[in-house]
Amino acid sequence: MRVLNFNAGPATLPLSALELARDELLDFGGTGMSIMEHSHRGKDFEAVHAETKSLMREIIGVPDTHEILFVQGGASQLFAQIPMNFAHVGKCADYVVTGAWGEKAVSEAKVVAKMLNTTTHVAASTGEGDGKEKQYHRVPEDAEIKPDAAAAYLHYTSNETIHGVEFHRIPSAGNAPLICDASSDFIWKKVDISKFALVYAGAQKNVGPSGIVVVLARKDFIAQGRTDIPKIFQLRTVAENDSLYNTPPTFAIYLIRNVMRWIKTEGGLEAMEKKNREKAKLVYDALDAHAGFYRLPVEKASRSVMNVIFNLPNEGLEEKFLGEAKKRKMVGLKGHRSVGGMRASLYNAVPVEWAKALAELIADFAKQNG
Ligand code: PMP
Repeated sequence: MRVLNFNAGPATLPLSALELARDELLDFGGTGMSIMEHSHRGKDFEAVHAETKSLMREIIGVPDTHEILFVQGGASQLFAQIPMNFAHVGKCADYVVTGAWGEKAVSEAKVVAKMLNTTTHVAASTGEGDGKEKQYHRVPEDAEIKPDAAAAYLHYTSNETIHGVEFHRIPSAGNAPLICDASSDFIWKKVDISKFALVYAGAQKNVGPSGIVVVLARKDFIAQGRTDIPKIFQLRTVAENDSLYNTPPTFAIYLIRNVMRWIKTEGGLEAMEKKNREKAKLVYDALDAHAGFYRLPVEKASRSVMNVIFNLPNEGLEEKFLGEAKKRKMVGLKGHRSVGGMRASLYNAVPVEWAKALAELIADFAKQNG
């Protein structure tokens, strides 16, 4: 029996994408073997790879100016790889920090800056407090973002998966090329990709399984990347070899294809956005209706449509809430270990019915325990 899975990532995948993988697992397209057993340079995998990219280009509306790349190592590797490629000597790498993932990106950029003789600058941070107590409740206004005049790029995290803080606009980067970690809010609504030098997203939320990152990057920006770093880390190498410089995670790319087919069948990003907004409204409305019982740390204007963060009055009640959720076949609602509390992730593949069931649990639990 499949459960109502609210995991933050790896997260629930569309059932049809998994069923297709099951049906094709032992014999892909009559070839007598799994897609996993095919050469990454053979025509069968080539067709899968091409279909995945072309569906993604169509669904997102990726302009011809931008490459679609698949990179290994997770979004965490990109935290290091981006400054390695694009923080040029004498220039500064700018960061807007709105949560834990932005912090990690800055921290890796600082290590790279030491190695490569560049600098790192926090152009804005909405963190309040220090160390383990640090909290993030909102995204900054454009006026709060102070880009360095010599910035090689400005990096921000469009959705902070742990803190539930989401940008509902593209922030102003001044003249600097804009780079976005969109790991947890990728491909759920129309976004003008032409505004970005580079967008990257770890796949394990809205796109597919873990271990692979989708990178959308302007061709001329990739070409300007540094050449004094190992070839394997240069995004130029990935682009020049159509993500096949070395052996890619072929099964992950195949599963992304299945997910892209599902998004297209469902009606593309318009349908995804409508459903996602409906789910988020159901859950936030249920929480707001019992605002004296539940505490929502994120300011309304910055609330994430993907990751709903909330607290109960004490840890005992949080445990009880999770127990009640389990009885109703709901899993994945425990908040990230660094911040505690609850987190409900409502990515594309979460059906509206699950959000309704969660809203019911939220209401029932407050009535019984409030
Ligand atoms: N950025 C964001 C916004 C994330 O949510 C995550 C993972 N949850 C990462 C980066 C890191 O991804 P990975 O674990 O694939 O390296």
